[in-house]
Amino acid sequence: MSSNTSPLQLIDSFGRMHNNLRISVTDRCNIRCFYCMPAENVEFMPREHLLSFEEIARVVRVGTTLGIDRLRLTGGEPLVRKDLHKLVSMLVNIPGIIDVGLTTNGILLAEQAQQLRDAGLTRLNISLDALDPEVFRRVTRRDGYEQVLLGIEAARAAGFNPIKLNAVSVRGMTEEQIVPFGQLARETDTVVRFIEFMPLDADAQWQRDKVLFAQEIIDRLESEFGPLRPIPSDHVNAPAQDFEFADGIGRIGLIASVSQPFCGSCNRFRVTADGKLRNCLFSHEETDIKSLLRGSGTDQEMAEAMLTCIAAKKEGHEINTARFIQPDRPMYSIGG
Ligand code: SAM
Ligand code: SF4
Repeated sequence: MSSNTSPLQLIDSFGRMHNNLRISVTDRCNIRCFYCMPAENVEFMPREHLLSFEEIARVVRVGTTLGIDRLRLTGGEPLVRKDLHKLVSMLVNIPGIIDVGLTTNGILLAEQAQQLRDAGLTRLNISLDALDPEVFRRVTRRDGYEQVLLGIEAARAAGFNPIKLNAVSVRGMTEEQIVPFGQLARETDTVVRFIEFMPLDADAQWQRDKVLFAQEIIDRLESEFGPLRPIPSDHVNAPAQDFEFADGIGRIGLIASVSQPFCGSCNRFRVTADGKLRNCLFSHEETDIKSLLRGSGTDQEMAEAMLTCIAAKKEGHEINTARFIQPDRPMYSIGG
């Protein structure tokens, strides 16, 4: 919940207040996860289209006047953006911002974890879909497994605690990873969050029967390790439902975006790397903010663009209905 007392807030027509802005800093990436990017010949945004750090900071400053207080940097792979730690330090110093997180594939983390921590990054999520290097390669279509492990170690050494891993779960591909991840959660201070595969891949190959549902993951973990107990969340808007094993050892989370949508409590909106506001991952409309930033747009006009974007937010994503149409932009281009 936002601590903002401004009369203008980012409240949509369903009464949802938005205080959480996800910022994509690039659409480029050093791997090619099949659920997010094409395998080859990716057409990236021309560099001059990417918002500069100063432009991103201005978007955030305007956002804080409307109640934005939490940020997450994402992409593409945010760590391929040069000097990302400088952006982190600019953002943590903006009055009103209380939390700046980052989601990364971890490949470049070993060399950047300490810098990011020193810059004031509060939260870190590392994406790793498999503990088996072969499965990692099938999912990402690239090498890099060892680098991710080194990145996780560097994050731990830099003081990020707990380490949170994001694992996208795909039927026919990652079932055998569930128990090893459960084991990892029980043996280390790692929280593993399983994410249901969403229809945001670049090749529009998503099918419902490829989603490994949260309940199946729970069932598999419980049959191996015994009952899981839900942990009440500190944040009512958190998309993950966290659980601990009944013996108190280990914690895991489920992000059941497909089988148990959390649209009703969504508090997020997004700005793409090329400066478009999006009120939902699955929306078909965007609000251009770059033209305001690069033209003579005032802060007030930018605030109005944000309010208009949020006012148009739909009630939910409709993946589970026949009406659903996959958005044109895949995940890497929106910012996950
Ligand atoms: N490159 C970074 C990474 O992979 O962590 C940040 C961007 S990535 C788009 C953000 C998160 O979205 C990752 O955890 C990734 O696994 C997840 N993701 C990407 N495509 C997805 C999909 N189709 N369904 C579910 N999660 C997805
Ligand atoms: Fe890159 Fe992240 Fe997309 Fe994987 S999920 S291709 S790491 S942007």
